[in-house]
Amino acid sequence: MFKIEQLLYSYDALQPYIDAKTMEVHYSKHYAGYVNNLNIALQDYPELQLKSVEHLLINLDTLPAAVKTAVQNNAGGDYNHKLFWQMMTPGGKSLGHGSLLSAIDTKFGSFDQFKVQFENAAKSRFGSGWAWLVVDQVTGQLEIMSSANQDNPISIGKQVVLGLDVWEHAYYLHYQNRRADYIAAWWNIVNWGFVQERYYHLVKSL
Ligand code: MN
Repeated sequence: MFKIEQLLYSYDALQPYIDAKTMEVHYSKHYAGYVNNLNIALQDYPELQLKSVEHLLINLDTLPAAVKTAVQNNAGGDYNHKLFWQMMTPGGKSLGHGSLLSAIDTKFGSFDQFKVQFENAAKSRFGSGWAWLVVDQVTGQLEIMSSANQDNPISIGKQVVLGLDVWEHAYYLHYQNRRADYIAAWWNIVNWGFVQERYYHLVKSL
């Protein structure tokens, strides 16, 4: 059984950048739905129920054809949101002068240029999907990318450092069609402490 991860803050804690109703529906309906649907998809596959969502997403091609798409969508939804909740915190946390800021400066020229490129990836993703800052597992380099639906970079050899959900369910109640405003506001609640820590461990384990 895959389980729903507890949210570490209340639904209204990310206001005014993300409203309480959006958080409630996003967490208790959309995210919980992915986890439930993953359990349903794998109910006849006890050996797959024992795997981690990471393992399932890395090994999509080895899955039975009958469940591959359901796992891609729902294990993806589980994994992506679990990370997303932790990548935000009330009031945000600033990025200190650690290894991640150095790597961002080296790769993108400056933190501001990184933000522009990341925002462009988030804005230009057509339809539902995610914008990502990832580490390529072979080169160890930072990259910005986006993916459709609940696809995750882990399925193509890249580890997530930072991710932004740009599905309409993540912002539509408050921002309606103004995805760019949601993206601009989101920087105020990024938990850079968590993201820096995650980057540090990812790079160490390459
Ligand atoms: Mn979502």
